[in-house]
Amino acid sequence: MKPPLPEPLQTRTVDSHCHMDIFTSDGPAGSEVAVVLAEAASVGVDRVVQVGCDIESSRFAVECANAWPGRVLAAIAIHPNDAARLEDLATALEFIDELAAETRVRAIGETGLDYFRTPESGRDQQTLSFREHIAIAKRHNKTLMIHDRDAHDDVLKVLREEGAPDQVILHCFSGDEVMAKECVALGFILSFAGTVTFSNAPKLRAALLQVPLDQLLVETDAPFLTPSPYRGRPNAPYLVPITIRAIAEIRGEDPEIIAAAVSENATRAFGPF
Ligand SMILES: [Zn+2]
Ligand SMILES: [Zn+2]
Repeated sequence: MKPPLPEPLQTRTVDSHCHMDIFTSDGPAGSEVAVVLAEAASVGVDRVVQVGCDIESSRFAVECANAWPGRVLAAIAIHPNDAARLEDLATALEFIDELAAETRVRAIGETGLDYFRTPESGRDQQTLSFREHIAIAKRHNKTLMIHDRDAHDDVLKVLREEGAPDQVILHCFSGDEVMAKECVALGFILSFAGTVTFSNAPKLRAALLQVPLDQLLVETDAPFLTPSPYRGRPNAPYLVPITIRAIAEIRGEDPEIIAAAVSENATRAFGPF
């Protein structure tokens, strides 16, 4: 069952990472996306970044961003778990490289490493794909949006070897305090999802305390990672205020200040919507 609408934020803010293609069924310009965007805007979340994970969803992200000026921007990539399985990775990467030239594509991602879902045998190809995505981000001067699951050390190692692009976002940050400090020092932006509200995540909350306001983003990763107390129910951008309020409480700050910082940081990372 769908969680109820939270109390609106007074400050307009952004869901910096979601997958509307997965939980709507009538296309990137359709009435279902319209409802998702309207519900989010009604509680203060008036902009979202739509993220692609393969060729089809990257195309969706661009069409969605083009259909909703002022509301939606696109991130495009071959997801690390998909990259590891593809027979023709080179063709898929060529497609992403071409699509990256679109003006409303503002980030290359989600790319990175996932050692949770990809077995040892797929990791060489996954790493190769990550390196190529870093090159694409640099070539097109776009922000790099990283997916890192159980691969913290190797993600940082590859970034060091390739040289990080000017702007890097760690989506659904899942590292500890030490990693957060390291990423902050490198100038990366750390994006926190509903996972920061989970009762089993004290290390993530400790990491959150290391992040200066100007390097913080918030996301839903909808339809996944629904914040507590609605864990297990469908997620959508209108639930961002729940995560923002949880972050504010953990940090001892005003939720409106967090919302404003997230909005500013999103504009810096992605450009104007
Ligand atoms: Zn991810
Ligand atoms: Zn995602």
